[in-house]
Amino acid sequence: MGKVLIIGAGGVGTVVAHKVAQNMDVFDEIMLASRTKSKCDAIAEAIGGNKIKTARVDADDVEDLKKLFNSFKPDLVINVALPYQDLTIMDACLACGVNYLDTANYEPKDEAKFEYKWQWAYQDKFKEAGLTAILGCGFDPGVTSIFTAYAAKHHFDEIHYLDIVDCNAGDHGKAFATNFNPEINIREVTQKGKYWENGEWVETEPHAIHKPLIYPNIGPKESYVIYHEELESLVKNYPTLKRARFWMTFGQEYLTHLRVIQNIGMSRIDPVIYNGVEIIPIQFLKAVLPDPGELGENYKGETSIGCRIKGIKDGKERTYYIYNNCSHEAAYKETGMQAVSYTTGVPATIGGIMFMKGLWRKPGVFNVEEFNPDPFMEQLNKQGLPWHELFDIDLEM
Ligand code: NDP
Repeated sequence: MGKVLIIGAGGVGTVVAHKVAQNMDVFDEIMLASRTKSKCDAIAEAIGGNKIKTARVDADDVEDLKKLFNSFKPDLVINVALPYQDLTIMDACLACGVNYLDTANYEPKDEAKFEYKWQWAYQDKFKEAGLTAILGCGFDPGVTSIFTAYAAKHHFDEIHYLDIVDCNAGDHGKAFATNFNPEINIREVTQKGKYWENGEWVETEPHAIHKPLIYPNIGPKESYVIYHEELESLVKNYPTLKRARFWMTFGQEYLTHLRVIQNIGMSRIDPVIYNGVEIIPIQFLKAVLPDPGELGENYKGETSIGCRIKGIKDGKERTYYIYNNCSHEAAYKETGMQAVSYTTGVPATIGGIMFMKGLWRKPGVFNVEEFNPDPFMEQLNKQGLPWHELFDIDLEM
């Protein structure tokens, strides 16, 4: 039992607020804070029952965060603002003795580069303060890392090959939209491809490696190797991995829009002067693109995200596929958000439950695969993200 402060009132924050409010046997006081308080109020009102307090906070400002932490006195902060705010929120947590959880690793605003090094550097500070920091507790990173930990614990003596496969077979009816924050999403998918092989990182041009992969209940979808943040911690925590890759599906229409956006300079993250005012093109683009939080109403179809693993058990080679499929319509019905927000917000809530119950609590900074996966896996089935396993099948590796 304990008090939770959710920071960020976007698509993911909305889902976290709904799910936390469904688990008030674990979270006995809830506050939702963000840059725009009216958004927090609207979410709290939709949930009803006066379950959620709201506040305004500028999460770029450590002093502002400290003021809020000292007045509400949370046990845990669930950070579902943007990756830019990770370090300021971690600093405020250290200053006020609050535990921390997030779903995306830090990236500086002026460089499209995400790495764990900035947050891993907080290891000693959190350890000395006796506080827990849980990093990357969404779906990917998050559940994909926990699926890997679960496979390594129960089904393999050594894992050798890992393909994380992320398919969104949904249709939102728009010509172009991103499923989560457009600025973060476009920065992620336009970077160079990168995967781990034989002890080193192999870099490719963006979207250079692709092939159709068959997803359960969906069928074949063109899938592209992109770099994704959980690969960094997984290859460190599972040194037996000979190769680790991340595949994501993209439609041709999406890729064409992305190419145009890049070619015309709208994905630039450096400032340009427009009518005497400094603007950042990708931030301007975000302002005119559909809000991912409003895609839910017309979203049809489902997502399918999982891990395909090859390795050794009792001296024999084994293949294993563990995945979850999530319906956009069902997610919307429950929380008013589409499945991409839902599949991120539910695991963040479960991470909070793990912390509050004392199951995932140790001083220091940890990626989710460093905790016991079993109670988390149990909660996935209870909280709306059931998983399925397939053994000894063709993994299309
Ligand atoms: P949104 O853009 O919809 O929401 C972000 C929220 O954070 C907004 O409410 C925004 O406020 C608020 N915010 C931004 N800056 C500040 C600030 N300085 N102070 C206070 N609040 C701030 O994003 P999403 O909900 O789509 O994504 C949230 C997070 O989830 C991101 O970090 C994203 O990378 C991560 N994510 C992780 C996934 C995973 O599987 N691990 C998958 C998808 C997303 P305002 O409303 O005023 O703009």
